[in-house]
Amino acid sequence: MDIHCCKEGFAGGCYILPPLPCAAAAYEPVLDAETVRLHHDIHHAAYVAGANNALLQLQQFASGSGIAGTVPCDTANLAFNLGGHLLHCLYWHSFCSSAESEPGAELAAAIREQFGSMDGFYRLFRAVALGVQGSGWALLACEHMSKRLLIFGVHRHQDALVSGITPLLACDVWEHAYYLRYKNNRAAYVDAFLSHINWSRVTEHFNGCCQHK
Ligand code: MN
Repeated sequence: MDIHCCKEGFAGGCYILPPLPCAAAAYEPVLDAETVRLHHDIHHAAYVAGANNALLQLQQFASGSGIAGTVPCDTANLAFNLGGHLLHCLYWHSFCSSAESEPGAELAAAIREQFGSMDGFYRLFRAVALGVQGSGWALLACEHMSKRLLIFGVHRHQDALVSGITPLLACDVWEHAYYLRYKNNRAAYVDAFLSHINWSRVTEHFNGCCQHK
């Protein structure tokens, strides 16, 4: 999974919590600053710590200490926590206060080609986000074999995630992402998110990794 906006999430040999790309209050009207701060400072930070810890355990085993019996647990923890870290890095860039931007011309054309229209994209993305059972994500991604844009529902941070894709847009549908403001109304949160997609940033990602037709 290549999410090149996440380079800031790794430094000095460790995964690190990157600062939010904008002020916590700047995610209004989608989300309030308290939700954003808790989500970033507590939840995202825990995934960073979990990824580093799992990696440390695996490196210690590789260097001859530890027991093989913990390795399956450590690899599962690495996938969960690193998956969480990478997707949250993308999430903070996926939406913003401004609803004015639109996809760039080539991204818009790719969306129309795959989903019929922008409305088709919104219809499917919304249904995928609402259909994730329990905790997970909805992703718009470039699939590199076909060079197509596809929408995926991911469970937790890593289950049902296909290899060979680059996520371009990520909507976190874990309850911690929206419950303070929206309570159980995931649909209202997803609708607000979809109305404030940071299309200029998504277009940058698309142009950087999907322009190979
Ligand atoms: Mn989250």
